Amino acid sequence: MKDLTHYINGERVSGTSGRFSDVFNPATGEVQSRCPLASKEEFDQAVGIAAAAQPAWGATNPQRRARVMMKFVDLLNRDMDKLAEALSSEHGKTFPDAKGDVQRGLEVVEYCIGAPQMLKGEFTDSAGPGIDMYSMRQPLGVTGGITPFNFPAMIPMWMFAPALACGNAFILKPSERDPSVPIMLAELMEEAGLPKGLLQVVNGDKEAVDAMLDNETVQSIGFVGSTPIAEYIYGRGCSNGKRVQCFGGAKNHMIVMPDADMDQAADALIGAGYGAAGERCMAISVAVPVGDEAADKLIEKLVPRIEKLKVGPYTAGDDVDYGPVVTAAAKQNILGLIESGIQQGAELVVDGRDFSLQGYEDGFFVGPHLFDRVTPDMDIYKKEIFGPVLSTVRAGSYEEAIGLAMDHEYGNGTAIFTRDGDAARDFANRINVGMVGVNVPIPVPLAYHTFGGWKKSAFGDLNQHGPDAFRFYTRTKTITSRWPSGIKEGGEFNFKAMD
Ligand code: NAD
Repeated sequence: MKDLTHYINGERVSGTSGRFSDVFNPATGEVQSRCPLASKEEFDQAVGIAAAAQPAWGATNPQRRARVMMKFVDLLNRDMDKLAEALSSEHGKTFPDAKGDVQRGLEVVEYCIGAPQMLKGEFTDSAGPGIDMYSMRQPLGVTGGITPFNFPAMIPMWMFAPALACGNAFILKPSERDPSVPIMLAELMEEAGLPKGLLQVVNGDKEAVDAMLDNETVQSIGFVGSTPIAEYIYGRGCSNGKRVQCFGGAKNHMIVMPDADMDQAADALIGAGYGAAGERCMAISVAVPVGDEAADKLIEKLVPRIEKLKVGPYTAGDDVDYGPVVTAAAKQNILGLIESGIQQGAELVVDGRDFSLQGYEDGFFVGPHLFDRVTPDMDIYKKEIFGPVLSTVRAGSYEEAIGLAMDHEYGNGTAIFTRDGDAARDFANRINVGMVGVNVPIPVPLAYHTFGGWKKSAFGDLNQHGPDAFRFYTRTKTITSRWPSGIKEGGEFNFKAMD
C-alpha cells in the first residue's frame, strides 16, 4: 500500500496527523493508495512558508512570472500522457477524457502568459491641475483553493495559474479522492522555474478546509464542488473577511425544439449526458423536448445510441465511451436515486441496473439509464445525480420548457437545440443560467472568457478564468498624485558666493 504525500516548500512531505483516506482504483474497486489528511498545524505551517515566499514573487516583474507559465505549458505537453494516466487511474475517466482535463487547464495557463497585459493599471493624466490619477493591481498575498474530484487537473490550474501569474502564493487543497495529479502539477511548476513555497499542495478533508477558512493570513479562497459545501465555505470564508468565490452543483437542461435536427440533438445528448459517466458539472442531465411528437422522436433516437455505449476501464483503450464512477458511495447514491425515480413514477426506458463487466465485478461501474416522463416534483429531477442517468421532462410548449430551466434551483449551464434563430435568441436573453449553448450541448467557455453559473451553482461575484480571474486575484489600489513645483522651476544651478 502506497502512502501519498503533501507538497510543502518544494518537497513531497509525509503526513503527520496519522489520518488517511483511501484512494481507489475505481475500475477494480481496490484501494491503491492512502491520502494523508492534514491537521490544522500542518496546514498552518504551509501558510507560514507561503507568506515568507510571496513578497519576492509579488515583486518579480510580471513578464518573468509569465515566462514560468510559458515553460509550464511546454512541460504539460511533454508530460501529457503521464499526467493523463495518473488521472485516469484514480478518477476512472477514459484516457482521452483525462487528456482533455489537462488540456482545458493548460489553456488557462496559456491565457495567464498574458499577465503583463492583464495587470496593466489605468492612468489619467492631469485629472486636476498638476494631478495624475492611476490605479494598479497588486497581489493579495497568500491565496488558497479547494477543488473537486471530477477535474483534478483542470480546476486546480484554473485557480493556481492566475493566482501565481498575479504574484500571489497559492495553497491547494485538492480532492482526497484523486490527489496525485495536483502534486505532479506543483512539481512541474517548479521545474518551470517557480520558486519553492509558492505553490503547495496540502491534502485533507474538513479539518484542512477549516484551517484554510480560519487562517488570517489566507486572503482569498476559491472553491469548486457541491452546493452544500460551497454555501458553507462561502459563509464562513466571507465572515472571516476573506475574498471568496464558490462554484457548486448543477442540473443542466437541454431544450429540444420540435424543429431541431433530432439526430444531432440525440448525438449531443449522448456525449453530454453520459460522457465521463455524467460526472461533469456541465453534463446535461435533463432533456426537455417540446411537444410529444418531438419527445417520441428523441427517445426513439436516443435508445439505440444508449444501448451501444461502451462502458469499461480506461485501460481498455479508446473504444470505451465512459468509465466507472469515482467511489462505491457515489455508485450507491446514483442507484438509490434511480430507485426513487422508479418509485415516484418516472418511466425507466433504458435500465442499466444489472450492468456488470467481466473481470471488473467489483469496479464502480454504472450502466447507462434513460428516464422518460420525469416531473419536477421527483427527486431525480430536483437533485444532482452526477451519474450516467438522463431524465426526460416533456414540455407542452417553449414557455413551459424555458420555465422549467428557470425555476430549477441550479443555474450552471443549459442549451437549446433549434433551427429557429428567434427562439434561440429569446432563450439566450431570458434564461437565468450562467452558460448557454445554442445547438452546443456543453457550452464551457474558453480560457479567455469566464466560467460561472447563476443561482445555487455559484456564490460570489466574479467568475473563474478569463479577465475575472485577474480581478479576483488582485487588489486595486488607486493613487492620486500631485507634485509641488520642484527643481525644474525653482532650482539654483549657478555657483553663488555665500552671503
Ligand atoms: P465535494 O463538495 O464533495 O468536495 C469538493 C471539495 O470540498 C473537496 O476538496 C472535498 O475534500 C471538500 N469537502 C468535502 N466535504 C467537506 C466538508 N464537509 N467541509 C469542508 N470541505 C469539504 O464535491 P465533489 O464530489 O468532489 O465534486 C462534485 C461536485 O462538484 C458536483 O456537485 C459538481 O457539480 C461540482 N462541480 C462544480 C463545478 C462548477 O464549476 N460549478 C465544477 C466541477 C464540479
